[in-house]
Amino acid sequence: MSPLELDIPGATTVAFTTVLPVDGALLELEGAGVSFSAAGRVTVEVAPVNEGFLVTGILEIPVELACSRCLAPAEHRILEHFRIVLSRDSSAGDADDEWVFFAHDERTFDLAPLVRDLIIVALPAKPLCDDRCLGLCPVCGSDRNQTRCHCINSTIDPRWAGLLPLAVNGDVSPDKEEASHGTTEEEDIQDQA
Ligand SMILES: [Zn+2]
Ligand SMILES: [Zn+2]
Repeated sequence: MSPLELDIPGATTVAFTTVLPVDGALLELEGAGVSFSAAGRVTVEVAPVNEGFLVTGILEIPVELACSRCLAPAEHRILEHFRIVLSRDSSAGDADDEWVFFAHDERTFDLAPLVRDLIIVALPAKPLCDDRCLGLCPVCGSDRNQTRCHCINSTIDPRWAGLLPLAVNGDVSPDKEEASHGTTEEEDIQDQA
């Protein structure tokens, strides 16, 4: 039996709302590189309409992905709205993706395939553990959020490479050297006194 079976009693004549827990582990999404650290839920409203039911809902579930920059776990909260019509009339609405044939003797509707599709569509293309994630060093592979390596990034734009020696020379100015000599002499005099 599906973990997300929605019960719709045949005699339903007024709208009702129900909340179903969503256990991500039962959705068979391992191949999508997603894992679930906590349960989610789907809140569904079922309203009788001509020849069937209008089902509207909200899926909320936290997912855990790998950060696209540093591979650390990246939390993401999925919040997706959906709408489907369960029609008793098999000849209606063929061209509409939101339309599903629901035979007169059917009393339950399996939400699992819909929930699985909603999660896959909502997954971010480039998940991040943090917007400011510094990623892995392309030279030594260390996590730049944890340690500061001293690798020279070989991907420096060649148009700027010519300016590098100027930046290095600018650091050690002759004025600073003279000042430090002066300090040393003063200290020597104080030591002798
Ligand atoms: Zn990261
Ligand atoms: Zn490095």
